Amino acid sequence: MAMAMAMRRAAALGARHILGASSSSSSGILRSRHMSVDAAAALERIRAAGLLRTQGLIGGKWIDAYDGKTIEVENPATGEILANVSCMGSRETSDAIASAHTTFYSWSKLTASERSKALRKWYDLIISNKEELALLMTLEQGKPIKEALGEVNYGASFIEYFAEEAKRIYGDIIPPTLSDRRLLVLKQPVGVVGAITPWNFPLAMITRKVGPALACGCTVVVKPSEFTPLTALAAADLALQAGIPAGALNVVMGNAPEIGDALLQSTQVRKITFTGSTAVGKKLMAGSADTVKKVSLELGGNAPCIVFDDADIDVAIKGSLAAKFRNSGQTCVCANRILVQEGIYEKFASAFIKAVQSLQVGNGLEESTSQGPLINEAAVQKVEKFIKDATSKGAHIMLGGKRHSLGMTFYEPTVVGNVSNDMLLFREEAFGPVAPLVPFKTEEDAIHMANDTNAGSLSDPVYLNYYFFLFSLVCQAL
Ligand code: ADP
Repeated sequence: MAMAMAMRRAAALGARHILGASSSSSSGILRSRHMSVDAAAALERIRAAGLLRTQGLIGGKWIDAYDGKTIEVENPATGEILANVSCMGSRETSDAIASAHTTFYSWSKLTASERSKALRKWYDLIISNKEELALLMTLEQGKPIKEALGEVNYGASFIEYFAEEAKRIYGDIIPPTLSDRRLLVLKQPVGVVGAITPWNFPLAMITRKVGPALACGCTVVVKPSEFTPLTALAAADLALQAGIPAGALNVVMGNAPEIGDALLQSTQVRKITFTGSTAVGKKLMAGSADTVKKVSLELGGNAPCIVFDDADIDVAIKGSLAAKFRNSGQTCVCANRILVQEGIYEKFASAFIKAVQSLQVGNGLEESTSQGPLINEAAVQKVEKFIKDATSKGAHIMLGGKRHSLGMTFYEPTVVGNVSNDMLLFREEAFGPVAPLVPFKTEEDAIHMANDTNAGSLSDPVYLNYYFFLFSLVCQAL
């Protein structure tokens, strides 16, 4: 019954315009339990480009989990199983670390210019395969194809940027306190880096960690999210093709706590870089203490978007819409609270609702789609919990507020009015297509409300850490 429903939904959501993909059917590793024609065509195109990888990458070799276990990667728009990927754990991770450690000695000895050339080639290959990568991303993550293409460009840009910056890792000369001394700071790569990434940006979160690490001579073990490993594996394949040597970039996925623990316990891993939830970030930070690893964390946020009485309403609507609904609200910099001054509140709310109504919910493979599904059922349940909490405390639903009629994990783009600081919608990340409108009186009130959060404050241990910081940290002396 559930299967038949999923098949009907898959057929209903089948896209019509997927970057000119042919409609030939797929075979092989696909368990096409509920495969819609267009998803199958997209996968066939990705496979034909040689980018449908399902094994981990260790020491330049594509490897199954040692016990043969696999995990299913699901299309959140349809429930169809896209592929079964290797489900790895501590043993595979230890081997990936060993391989990265061995390769560190040769990779770090290359000149910045030599490393830069390989990275530049990787960038070029990502760009020349951008449509296949975008299709893969939409299939496994659900984001609209236009956003996926945007992410491929954005993700590739980190490789391009750091390929250049690697040539400019300058040192310092420090005036000594003794006349017969000379003090020089020479920046060196730290060693093996463990990079753990989330599902909401399946490519960009990887390239912005791996780009700077490889550029300055580090080697890397990446653990992508189990929800979106296919884009990561495809990108790793392109890295090999670009001449990034075997062992410089390794990818393992599967049992997250086991992989995480193996990375933390290893004395060869000198740095952990992580983007994801605050809870997991804290665990990684604590677990890094034993071996005194360097740590870069990019955790949750609670971004306010502030609209004052004198705002240009068109600009404010456009900006708020983009800031809130990118990737269906599933980014850590999405506007989590929209603070609106009382004088413009009604006018803004009605224009904003109109704009939100124009968003097209659907399968991301459809070119007209601007809102894809949420990543999974747990994500929808979280949104439902937040909505229930808000309405029980006096907020009112101005638009949406429930699951979308498309089923699966689609949720209606939602606007909630009169949100206050005692509600979950104000205090925590909804990570969904819900725009809470919070009225305020004065600029001081707005600033107070905006800062009334434990995210984003430098005095708080939980704050966003941007990639520029990451680059400088990776380059620190051992
Ligand atoms: P999100 O809520 O965005 O999924 P998570 O923090 O759960 O955030 O996941 C981000 C990344 O962290 C994913 O790759 C996930 O598999 C990984 N992860 C989750 N738990 C652990 C853990 N105990 N150790 C290491 N990595 C983990």
